[in-house]
Amino acid sequence: MSILVVGTVAFDSIETPHGSADHVLGGSASYFAVAASFFSPVKIVGVIGRDFPAEYMDLFSRRGIDLEGLRRNEGATFHWRGRYHEDLNVRDTIELHLNVLSGFVPRLPESYRNAEYVFLGNIDPAMQIEVLNQLRQVRLVACDTMDHWIQGSAGELRKVLGRIEILIINDSEARLLSGEHNIVRAARAILKMGPKAVLIKRGEYGVLQFTDSSVFATPAYPLEEVFDPTGAGDSFAGGFLGQLARARDNSQGGLRRAIVYGSVVASFTVEDFGLKRLTQLSLAEIEERYRGFIELTDFHT
Ligand code: AMP
Repeated sequence: MSILVVGTVAFDSIETPHGSADHVLGGSASYFAVAASFFSPVKIVGVIGRDFPAEYMDLFSRRGIDLEGLRRNEGATFHWRGRYHEDLNVRDTIELHLNVLSGFVPRLPESYRNAEYVFLGNIDPAMQIEVLNQLRQVRLVACDTMDHWIQGSAGELRKVLGRIEILIINDSEARLLSGEHNIVRAARAILKMGPKAVLIKRGEYGVLQFTDSSVFATPAYPLEEVFDPTGAGDSFAGGFLGQLARARDNSQGGLRRAIVYGSVVASFTVEDFGLKRLTQLSLAEIEERYRGFIELTDFHT
């Protein structure tokens, strides 16, 4: 079952306490697509500029990712510069250049319109709606967003929330979106905005899933060293939705297993800069760490 993703395909410049990287491949759609491609075929909707190198296109192609919906426009590719604190859960956006992304209107190729699993990655909510409007038979829509859009495009974002099943968001964004400091209250308030489930990412502390009738918690996989947290959230979403599409199982148990797969993939992403670790990863390594996760959280046998 293939998955459609809309989001940024970017140049990232990253500074962490371990070092820095300049103009490397990043973006919400890039991390999501590579992560999900271990489980299911992926189609990207997005825009790049003239400066986007063939080497990065090849990286997507090697993972079998469909690029028909990735437009190349005049201008420069979206560029984000972020700096992490000693506490890697905290980062600042130093520069954000939308470039070709400003004014971009996504047009889905015919071969994309029957997609059933959809991820509205972190991008302008107006573009997320534009994508939803072009789909014919959606089965499950998950969505991510960030402070930039919560503050700048609140009205459009509310419309998106009314049309999705799952919101995947980090804890500070959940507080900002809901106006509630307590994370349980924040989740309850967000559920009232439309989604059937809210997944709250808490960095090294793991993920909480809230529905109207349940709460599920999983830790992050304990690592001795986190090198670069960039893309952890999008890789989580990729592993999560990839597994849901692979198993075609949206039951409560299916969702929980998918959350663990998402956490496993994210734990690999943060082991190196940018997409480096994901491009060297195998499905066998993912399955092995998934089994490790079962042991890690087993307390009832
Ligand atoms: P994550 O670490 O999973 O939250 O996502 C990091 C990615 O988000 C980076 O690769 C950036 O290129 C991308 N990004 C940063 N700011 C924005 C924004 N305002 N809209 C869309 N994508 C962004």
